[in-house]
Amino acid sequence: MKISANTVVTLDYEVKDPQHEMVDPGERPLVYLHGSGGIFPKLEAALTGKAVGDALEVHLEPEDAFGEYDDELVTTELLENLPEGVVVGMQLEGTGDHGTHIMSITEIDEGKAVLDGNHPLAGLALVFACTVSAVRTATPEELEHGHAHGDGGHPH
Ligand SMILES: [Zn+2]
Repeated sequence: MKISANTVVTLDYEVKDPQHEMVDPGERPLVYLHGSGGIFPKLEAALTGKAVGDALEVHLEPEDAFGEYDDELVTTELLENLPEGVVVGMQLEGTGDHGTHIMSITEIDEGKAVLDGNHPLAGLALVFACTVSAVRTATPEELEHGHAHGDGGHPH
C-alpha cells in the first residue's frame, strides 16, 4: 500500500539540524493521517507515494518547518504581572492576537522578564530522516476527526 490521501502512516524518525546535532530523537514513532495537514506540507509531499520500508531524508528550511524567528514575538513584561516564581527557561501560556501560544522566559532582570513567543525551533533549518513502518487505510471516524487514532495517534 502506498501513502496517499486518507491513509494513516507510521514513521520511525529523527530530526537533526543541518550541523547534525540531534533536535528530536523520535523516541516514539510518528503516526499521522496523510492529507490532513497534520505534518509539515513539504514533508507530506515527500512522503506521498512511499510505502513500508522506504526511507527518506527531507531538508526543511525554517519557513517549511516552525517559521522564521520573529523579533516582534519577543516582549518585556513586569514580573508583578506574571505568576509568582517564574524563572528563566520556564514556559507560560499566553493569549494574543492569534489565540493561545507558548512563551518562554529568556531573561529576568530588574523586575522585568523577557518573553519569547517564538517556537523553540523557529528560525532553524531541520533535516527530517524517516522510515515508513506502517501504512493503512484510515477509518471513517479518523477521517471525520481529521487525525489518526489508536496506538501513537490522537489521545483524546
Ligand atoms: Zn479523533
